[in-house]
Amino acid sequence: MEDMIYIKPHHFVDILTSFGTGRVRFEPHPYGHAVHIVAEQILTNRDVTLRIELGADDICRPCEHNIDGLCDDTIDTSFRPGAPSLKRDWNLLIDRRWCERLKIEQGHKLSARELCRRLRDLAGDITDIYREIPARLTADRARKLEEGIRKFPNDQSPYYRARDIFAPGMYGPRCHSSTIVELKNGDLMAAWWSGSYEGATDVVIKAARLPLGADTWEPATTVADFPDRFQGNPVLFSLADGRLWLFFAVIHFRGPKGVQIMFRESTDLGRTWGPMREFATEPGIRTRNHPIIMPNGEILFPLHDQRTGSSVFLISGDLGQTWEMTLPCF
Ligand code: SF4
Repeated sequence: MEDMIYIKPHHFVDILTSFGTGRVRFEPHPYGHAVHIVAEQILTNRDVTLRIELGADDICRPCEHNIDGLCDDTIDTSFRPGAPSLKRDWNLLIDRRWCERLKIEQGHKLSARELCRRLRDLAGDITDIYREIPARLTADRARKLEEGIRKFPNDQSPYYRARDIFAPGMYGPRCHSSTIVELKNGDLMAAWWSGSYEGATDVVIKAARLPLGADTWEPATTVADFPDRFQGNPVLFSLADGRLWLFFAVIHFRGPKGVQIMFRESTDLGRTWGPMREFATEPGIRTRNHPIIMPNGEILFPLHDQRTGSSVFLISGDLGQTWEMTLPCF
């Protein structure tokens, strides 16, 4: 499915204007609209496809003022007496002017980077777009927008939001060894071990999902519970064909050969999981980091061989049907 964001032109302009002030983190708004989610999507992927929308867009969708696709909110007209008081009329007026200025129209699809380029090349004097607002107020907005436009296409600084997935203690006194992947549909899935303490036999592997566009993680489920054994080091890996793999290590007894890597596969993006089975490694080798796809298409899976204290790699050239182990790396 193509990633696409429905957006009003002035909402995109507002995001770039905020970005121009140095803001990269947008908080949820009391109205419940989704500017924080859409801004995150755009700042994370500047090539994301935007579809120009003059009605309710992806920001409006969850907003409490979005009544069957129509905004019922009003605007403050005290400093713009010539503006219509209904927000939907004001927005439409402004968005139509932006459309004319940027040579776009309802339903037009273009990347965020391209829309930014049009703003750079075509926006000109924006006091005319917001002509009901005193020019000195719009001049300040214009400066911030200009800075946002300048930074947006080339800014390589990583975008991130740091937050707890769940409240501390929600899934046991200890949660550790987290792993996270983006699934084929854009959802995020995280897994970790959860239990009394590292080494305890009540530890299980938990997993939870953040659906694409959502701001709240779904409740965690247990995806591996090997009876009477400690299990840890979960590693998730999402393949381009939609398969999702979970690897983890089970400790059968203390000592270099006491660990075995286990494996489960999901073919429905982590909703259900196939049987748990031993993975194609000898006892004594355990998971540590997630696999990567190499430029030639082979999967490289880094592991730790605790018998020798070395790193080893499994390589698969057939998407996991067979694996070949490299010599140890010290
Ligand atoms: S335009 Fe109206 S419906 Fe849309 S986000 Fe703003 S207040 Fe909510």
